[in-house]
Amino acid sequence: MNAFKIARIAGIDIKIHWSWFAIFFLLTWFLATGFYSEVYETWSSTEAWVASIVTTILFFSSILLHELSHSIVARRLGLPVKDITLFIFGGVSSLGAEPSDAKQEFKVAIVGPLTSFAIGIIAGVIALIGLLNDLEDTLPFAIAEYLFVINIAVGIFNMLPGFPLDGGRVLRAALWARSGNMIKATRWASTAGTVISFGLIAIGVVSILVGSFIGGVWFIVIGWFLRNSAESSYQQLVLRRALEGIKVSEMLNRGFYPAPPDMPLDEVVTSLMFGHSQRCVPIVVSDDLLGLLSMSDLQKVATEQWPDTSAFRAMTPREQLQMVGLDDDLTHALEIMVSKDIHQLPVIDARSFVGFVTRADVLRLIQIRSQLGADPNPRP
Ligand SMILES: [Zn+2]
Repeated sequence: MNAFKIARIAGIDIKIHWSWFAIFFLLTWFLATGFYSEVYETWSSTEAWVASIVTTILFFSSILLHELSHSIVARRLGLPVKDITLFIFGGVSSLGAEPSDAKQEFKVAIVGPLTSFAIGIIAGVIALIGLLNDLEDTLPFAIAEYLFVINIAVGIFNMLPGFPLDGGRVLRAALWARSGNMIKATRWASTAGTVISFGLIAIGVVSILVGSFIGGVWFIVIGWFLRNSAESSYQQLVLRRALEGIKVSEMLNRGFYPAPPDMPLDEVVTSLMFGHSQRCVPIVVSDDLLGLLSMSDLQKVATEQWPDTSAFRAMTPREQLQMVGLDDDLTHALEIMVSKDIHQLPVIDARSFVGFVTRADVLRLIQIRSQLGADPNPRP
C-alpha cells in the first residue's frame, strides 16, 4: 500500500496512506467554509479555519485511538499486530493473524466502537460545561460539540452489523460461537455487510435526489467501499483457510518437458507445446533454469523466423522471472500468480529447477476443499 510511517505508538507503526490527505483537506475545507461559518456567524474566517484544522486533527486522533484500541487488545490476546494505516475512509488496523476463537474476535471488535463512544462522551461533557456557562460559541466548546457528534456517529456506524465493520465482526463472533463454523459465520456476516452497503448506497441516492449532493455521494462511496471489502475479505478468508499450511512442495507439478537453449522455436512448438500440450517450456541446462518460453514470448517472433530463432533468444530470461521455493506457502505463490497475472511459477530448490506450481492446480485444490466444506481446523 502507498503508505508511509509517521509514528510508532506502543510499539505499533502508524502509517498514512496518500488518500488520507484528500479527506483531511476536504473535511477541513467543509468545516471552514460550510459548517462552522454557517453555525457560528459571529466567527471571523480565521477563527473558522483555525477551529476547522484543530477539529480535523482531533477527529483523526480519535480515529487513531479507535484503531489503537483494536490493536492493543489484539496484541494483549496474543495476536500479532502489524500496523495502523489512516486512509480516506478512516483507519485500518492490520493484524498478522485472524482471531482464533469467537471470544477473541468479540473483544478485539467491540473495543473500537466503545473507544469512539467514550471519546464522544468526554467531548459531550466538555460541550455541556460550555453550554451551562454560556460559552458554547467559543472555539474550544464548539470543537468539543462537533467531536461529540462525530465520535458518536463513528461509533454507531462501526456498530452496523455488516462484516468487515466492527459490528459485523461482533455478529460474526456471535454466529461463530453458536455454529462453531468460522467460514459459515463469515459468509453470513459478509452477506449482512453487502445488504448494509446497498442500504448506504440507497440512502446516498435519496440524499442526492433531495438535494444533499456531497453527503449523498459520500454515502454511495462508503457503501461501495464496504460492499467490495465485504466480498473480498470473505474470499480471502476462504482462500487462506483452504490453503492454510500447504507448501509449494505439495503442489509441485513435475510433468513438464524442458528444451535445450539451442533448440529452434518451430521444434519447441511442434514437439513440446503441441506434443505435450505445454503452455510454457522451461529452457534448462543440467537442472539450471535459464529462462521460460511462453506463448507471449513466441508471439513476439514472426512465424517465418521460428526455424532460425533459438529458444534461448526468444525466452524470458531467469532474472525477469518470478520464482518460488519448495518451502514457500502456497498462498504466497497464488498471490504472485494473481497479482502478476501469470499461469505458472517455476519452483527452485537451492539453485536447481524442479518443476512448476500452476494456477489451475491451486484453483482445483481450492475448489475441492471448499466443496467438501473443509474447515481444515474445526474449532470447538
Ligand atoms: Zn473499528
